[in-house]
Amino acid sequence: MDSDPPLWIKEYARRAIEAHISRGFFVDMGQKQLIEFINENLEHGCNYCGCELKYIDTNSSKIKPWDIDPHCISLDIINPKNRSLNRKNIQLLCHECNLTKGHHNHQEHIKYCRDLAVRFGEAWG
Ligand SMILES: [Zn+2]
Repeated sequence: MDSDPPLWIKEYARRAIEAHISRGFFVDMGQKQLIEFINENLEHGCNYCGCELKYIDTNSSKIKPWDIDPHCISLDIINPKNRSLNRKNIQLLCHECNLTKGHHNHQEHIKYCRDLAVRFGEAWG
């Protein structure tokens, strides 16, 4: 059952590819592939916290990163150091998780979260 992806996904994919090209990324997937990826993975929510992802048009105004809805969809480059946008190197995250991950790759980010949890673990017990 192939349902036609919503218009916002097409627009989001187009902008994501454009933005990554302009930031010097090597984009090794077409717009159609990115649309399919988003459409297929959207139902799973954020790959880290599992929240439901919302689409909010954040491109039309000068919204500051901290003012964007934390559950807003964002495309994460899993390992940003290889500057490569391809199907194996992307995941859908919520804005908050992506903002927190920053320039870390997946392993670095998980280690960072674990280190924080260990450091503050006592306070939860
Ligand atoms: Zn999240």
